[in-house]
Amino acid sequence: MAQRKSPIEMSGEEFRRLGHALVDDLAGFLDTLPERPVTPGEPPSVVRATLPGNRLPEEGADPAQLLDQATQLLTRHSLFNGHPRFAGYVTSPASPIGSLAELLASTINANLGAWILSPMATEIELQTIRWIAQLIGYPADTGGVLVSGGNMANFVGFLVARHTKADWAIRENGLCATQARNLRVYASREVHTWLHKAADLFGLGTDNIRWVDVNGDQTVDLKDLKKALEHDRRAGDLPFLIVGSAGTVSTGAVDPIAELRDLSDEFGAWLHIDGAYGALAAASPDRPEPLTRLELADSVALDPHKWLYAPLEAGCALVRDAEAMRATFSYRPPYYKMDEVAGEPTVDFIDYSPQNSRGFRALKVWLALRQVGRKGYAQMISDDMRLARLLFDLARSHDELEAHTLNLSITTFRYVPVDLQIAIEANEAYLNRLNESLLTELQESGKAFLSNAVIEGRYLLRACIVNFRTGTEDVRAIVEVVVTLGRKLHTSCQSE
Ligand SMILES: *Cc1c(COP(=O)(O)O)cnc(C)c1O
Repeated sequence: MAQRKSPIEMSGEEFRRLGHALVDDLAGFLDTLPERPVTPGEPPSVVRATLPGNRLPEEGADPAQLLDQATQLLTRHSLFNGHPRFAGYVTSPASPIGSLAELLASTINANLGAWILSPMATEIELQTIRWIAQLIGYPADTGGVLVSGGNMANFVGFLVARHTKADWAIRENGLCATQARNLRVYASREVHTWLHKAADLFGLGTDNIRWVDVNGDQTVDLKDLKKALEHDRRAGDLPFLIVGSAGTVSTGAVDPIAELRDLSDEFGAWLHIDGAYGALAAASPDRPEPLTRLELADSVALDPHKWLYAPLEAGCALVRDAEAMRATFSYRPPYYKMDEVAGEPTVDFIDYSPQNSRGFRALKVWLALRQVGRKGYAQMISDDMRLARLLFDLARSHDELEAHTLNLSITTFRYVPVDLQIAIEANEAYLNRLNESLLTELQESGKAFLSNAVIEGRYLLRACIVNFRTGTEDVRAIVEVVVTLGRKLHTSCQSE
């Protein structure tokens, strides 16, 4: 095998030809995106049947044809969160520079577990973390790491809190140590479901979550929180973690961070802020006041794949005390040769998260930050919030729509037929069914894509605008589609 010929290898010439063809196809796709349906709305069985074959291929095939076929499959049978009328969940379009960054990153294929395996890439990630911290008003010397998304970023905060606040050797003795106390975590009922997974996966059990009531504006009820903390402290439990929201997933409510800090100090708990959706809105001059206080949190989770428009996946955990991160995650078996290169100390990311080998997520984030700058992001985030306000105002002034909430860039509203408006309370159950059907039809129509929220028993349509392609015309079109569908469904329900 003097000259090895591997079937997976490609000559530079072939890579160039295939790459150019792929980039041409993708540029064409991006140009025509607004004219396409948001989604084909096909049932899973149809999508599955479109796959080019069920059997594992025994022999290989021509890569040019394969790339072409994969492009066709994905551009015809996908939901496009990059579409200007996509406003569902908290899912955003990918920045075009981010797509190109992915190609560059994967071709270099740096392994960011260790500095020695990724010299420039690790330095870029460290700089990216400092810049993200600056964007949200967090200290630039913070510890941090890029992870797969908000869930993982929240897990990192949770785990550092668990390790830092347990007053016994939890790494060695675990949760059932003889000296162990019950670790309790506090969060409002509006906190995202990552907390269920964390409490379960990291051994606390979901019963050790104290779900605290919310106020009318969906922020945490501080009195109820304090009551729960006092109750558990009296019982000899260890309140180790308070979780606040910088933008709840349902309605974008921002908890009062300064007040949560005071309670955390009073009870010796860690303060973690889930800002997966909203923390980056701190970069906008139009942010709500509590977002100016993020620096008070011991840790913050946020999602570059939401408001920084990084292609999936990119989450980010920031922990003020980098040493606490290291103390939580670092192990050094004899087969790792790290810590310094050429006599200088290094940062090795295996010490700062549960991951071992790590990809170069930072590049797409770093390049977009440099492409548009802080000002560019502040502008785009402010625009998204303005569009959500426009939708709220349009819903409020429309005879057949009822506007409910507006926070950050999330607007909730519902369709209420004119003839039911004199007896809304008597028709709540019907209105819930009507709006649920409306949402299903809307999603399958491909004309626009919203998701839902349930607030005080009411089923609401929810638009979350984290989309640099959405404009005022799209917002007006969403209103029109919703009203048209609502009328149609209400009429057909009555004739049944
Ligand atoms: C999106 C979101 C999450 C989960 O983040 P992923 O990136 O989907 O893992 C957690 N919390 C909030 C508030 C979110 O908006």
